[in-house]
Amino acid sequence: MIKPKEIKSLLEREPRFEDSYCSIQAIPKMPTIQLKEIRALVSYARRFNDEVVRPLALKADLRTYQDPEYLPWDLVQKVNDWGFYTMFIPKFFGGQGWALPGLNYVVEELASACVGIANVVFVHYLGFGTILASWNIPLVNKICREVAEGERTGNPCLITLAITEPGAGTDVEEVELVDRGKVTCFAEKVKGGYIVNGSKIFISMGHVSRWHGLVAYTDLKKPSENTVMLAARTGMKGLTFGKHEDKMGQRACPASELIFEDCFIPDENVLLDSRTMRKSRLRDTGELVNQIIHYVVEASRPAVGAFGTGVARGAYEHALKFASETAVDGKLLINHEWAQIMLAEMYKNVIAGRLAYCEANFSNSLKGGIFNFLQVKPLYYYLKYIPQFVIDMFFVPFYKLKLVDWFFHQVYVEGQSLEAQKRCSGWSSIAKFFGTDMGMKNSQMALEMMGQAGLRHDHGAEKILRDSKLLQIYEGTNQLNRLNLFNCLIARSVPQAHVFEEEQEVKKC
Ligand SMILES: Cc1cc2nc3c(=O)[nH]c(=O)nc-3n(C[C@H](O)[C@H](O)[C@H](O)COP(=O)(O)OP(=O)(O)OC[C@H]3O[C@@H](n4cnc5c(N)ncnc54)[C@H](O)[C@@H]3O)c2cc1C
Repeated sequence: MIKPKEIKSLLEREPRFEDSYCSIQAIPKMPTIQLKEIRALVSYARRFNDEVVRPLALKADLRTYQDPEYLPWDLVQKVNDWGFYTMFIPKFFGGQGWALPGLNYVVEELASACVGIANVVFVHYLGFGTILASWNIPLVNKICREVAEGERTGNPCLITLAITEPGAGTDVEEVELVDRGKVTCFAEKVKGGYIVNGSKIFISMGHVSRWHGLVAYTDLKKPSENTVMLAARTGMKGLTFGKHEDKMGQRACPASELIFEDCFIPDENVLLDSRTMRKSRLRDTGELVNQIIHYVVEASRPAVGAFGTGVARGAYEHALKFASETAVDGKLLINHEWAQIMLAEMYKNVIAGRLAYCEANFSNSLKGGIFNFLQVKPLYYYLKYIPQFVIDMFFVPFYKLKLVDWFFHQVYVEGQSLEAQKRCSGWSSIAKFFGTDMGMKNSQMALEMMGQAGLRHDHGAEKILRDSKLLQIYEGTNQLNRLNLFNCLIARSVPQAHVFEEEQEVKKC
């Protein structure tokens, strides 16, 4: 029997405890009111699904086949009117400031009705997360205030992340791999800013967004040590849009090409460059870029896991409805044992996908993760009840002080220990590849159960399968995420294990 006085020594003996049970560590730090808020958010998302998403999902998908030039401006307008683009932006920056850990539950809800439209809403937060991770407070504030203004005036302002290039996809997601990729987006430092040349592809919502968190390189031969992150604005001279992809799924959400031709981006739009790095305690540029990439994906990958969980749920709901209404061999399908086993398996996949992204959320809410930002007691309560005008009057004037962005940078980017980063990043990868694999699995099972009926466009099930596949590819392919999990949570306890090795070294082995 364990005696109470033994608890302390038992915990000390278990250094990896936080890896396995993130929620146990995090829950006591979370404000209880968040639970109510998150339930209210989910309920709001369900209303949005009923009134906007479900009536539009199939129509938007079909329209992109009929009209390849179609861009979802009307949809963006509706999302803007419903307030989704400022929902999770902190009040510090003029947003509504709802609990950030609520984001993934809302993501799942929307994705259960249409993951393409869910992406029209949420890829904006990938862009937001990227600019926030720089902790360049005046710039973050400027961009977020434009988003808020866009919501007030009915003129939507969205943010993207532009990292993928024609010759480098997986490679640009990991600092250890980037030198192997064929990156071509070149940023030349000139007086007062950077001149950018090159292109980015597959940028979700590129054509309909106003701000783009752009990753470029000042030396294409050694990009890992010469990365800059800039905020490009639609309308800047030298930034144009090429084609948007004719892809198999998530067709409501365009994937755009961004072309930079002698595009001048002023110093005030620099999110990260060598000057930011000079004030960093991190050893070198690669280390800081690595830290920032992980900081962003720690939040964005669980969100993609929530997309996958939502898809898995949508597929399950289609299969359940079909089984409840269709007779096979003289009795309803739902009363055949094999169908019951399949439905039970699909149900389990949804629940397990949700548990994975919840644990990743909790891991992120512990010291250092992006969700930690303003979500812990007592700051959360304080901000919740303080009126917006007080923030605008007494906080915003100080944002220009260098000390402010230095402070946030120290607390959030550099304040996250390597150990905490590995835990958050490892968990974010688990949530991503598990949730999206479950999405794929359930959509296949739904089609198996539905037979020819599942293949008809008007039933919606085949669209779920097409939409689902894309989730396994973006936000780091599922292969890359498995490697990242190995790197973050497995390799550290096995000294002879090496991940992302140089090709020559692999050959030598
Ligand atoms: C719908 C959609 C939306 C997207 N939105 C955005 C966006 O908003 N912004 C953005 O910047 N990008 C976006 N992307 C791009 C996305 O991030 C890339 O597609 C992804 O990183 C994979 O790169 P790739 O497609 O070039 O595949 P590749 O890198 O060419 O990979 C091909 C295959 O090789 C495997 N592979 C590659 N390298 C390794 C390795 N070292 N170890 C093991 N396996 C490896 C991959 O897992 C994959 O199976 C989007 C993509 C899609 C499909």
